[in-house]
Parts: sequence; structure tokens; C-alpha cells
Amino acid sequence: MRVADQLRHINERINEACNRSGRSPEDVTVIAVTKYVSAERAQEAVDAGITSLGENRDTELIRKQDVIKGSPEWHFIGSLQTRKVKAVVDRVSYIHSLDRLSLAKEIEKRAPHAVRCFVQVNTSREPSKHGLKTEEVIPFIRELSDFRNISVEGLMTMAPLTDDTETIRACFRQLRDLRDQVQQLNQTNAPCRELSMGMSNDYEIAVEEGATFIRIGSSLVGNETGGVNK
Ligand SMILES: *Cc1c(COP(=O)(O)O)cnc(C)c1O
Repeated sequence: MRVADQLRHINERINEACNRSGRSPEDVTVIAVTKYVSAERAQEAVDAGITSLGENRDTELIRKQDVIKGSPEWHFIGSLQTRKVKAVVDRVSYIHSLDRLSLAKEIEKRAPHAVRCFVQVNTSREPSKHGLKTEEVIPFIRELSDFRNISVEGLMTMAPLTDDTETIRACFRQLRDLRDQVQQLNQTNAPCRELSMGMSNDYEIAVEEGATFIRIGSSLVGNETGGVNK
């Protein structure tokens, strides 16, 4: 499957989800998650019009960044070990996985300028998932108020893998409500306008619930075998 064809299909579904929810498609950015695929395949996504790429390993991100043409923005989407911050901090436009104070301190120390971050929230409360519990988010962001090199641009979550769309939707709604609460803090380094939520299986629900960044891997660029799910 060509990435361009997959992207056209995904964009149609985003448009329909926007129509259903009274949103504008320009407010939704598709991040092509290229962690499963080659640099060539990632390049195909950029050539098809993708402007944001997502990776979850420092080595892969650096390897691809060095060869991919077209200057996409790079998003670090996976859990980030503190010792890896130095390697990626000035290579990425966004970090989607800020979930603890030790990580924030390392970013604060290593970053040459303010880094746009998403605070990761475990809305499904699955023990296996990374991210803060919902009730921890506001106190955590308050603790960051003196961090000059961190800008909390938004919140990120992963919904559980389930066919129960109402459970998924409830997670996304929680994230949006929480985003609205963070905005009310009026904290200078936490404008918190963005919502990073929705993946291959649930991005339409995420768009209906207000996602501004959706992270799509397998159904856009395929998995390691080059295949595309769905
Ligand atoms: C892998 C990954 C994705 C993309 O998953 P798909 O289901 O393949 O679209 C999105 N977000 C995060 C954090 C990921 O690790």
C-alpha cells in the first residue's frame, strides 16, 4: 500500500469526524509514527505531505533524522529515560511523554531553550501504562511553574485496547476536561492548548473529542513487515 493512499483515506475519515463534531480539520495534525518502519518508508510519508514524524527511541530518531529530507518536525512519543534526554532534546519539536519530576529536571538542565512538552496521563488507569494519574496532573504542572525550559503545550494519553468505544471515548473526554482545568491555572509556562490522543484504532473518536495531534503508525505507514493494518 502506498502511504499517500493511506493518508488520503485517513484524511477523509478525519474530515468526517470533524463534520460530526463541528471542528475544523486544520486543527488536527497527523503525526506519522514511524517506529516500526524504515527511513525510506518514513520519507514516503513526508513526500505524501506529512509534516510531523513520531519516534519512541533515541537511536532510531537520530538515524532517521540524519537521512530524511523535507525538514519534518520530530515528536518523541514513547517513554523517555532520563539518561536519553541529552541525546534528543535539541532534535525534537515536541516531547509527548513528560510524566515525572526527574524527567522535567533533566529537560530543564539540558535544553538550550524551552521545549514543548505534553504531560502524559494514564486515563485508563491500567497499571501497565505510563503516565500520571488524573488527580496528579494539576499538582505536577504547578510544580513545573519555575521551569524556564519547559512549556506544557498540552496533555497526551493512550486509550485502552478495547472494542468498547464508550470506554475509549471516556478516556479522551477526561483528558479534555483536564486540559481545560490546566488552562484555568493561567500558568505562564503551561498554555496547554493541545490534546495528543488517538492512534490507528481510535483516532476518529479522538478527533470527535477534540484531539489536535493524532499519532498514527500501523494504519498509515504499516508495521515492520511493510503491511498496513486495516
Ligand atoms: C506506537 C505508538 C503509536 C502508533 O500506534 P498505531 O496503533 O500503530 O497507530 C501512537 N502513540 C504511541 C505513544 C505509540 O507508542
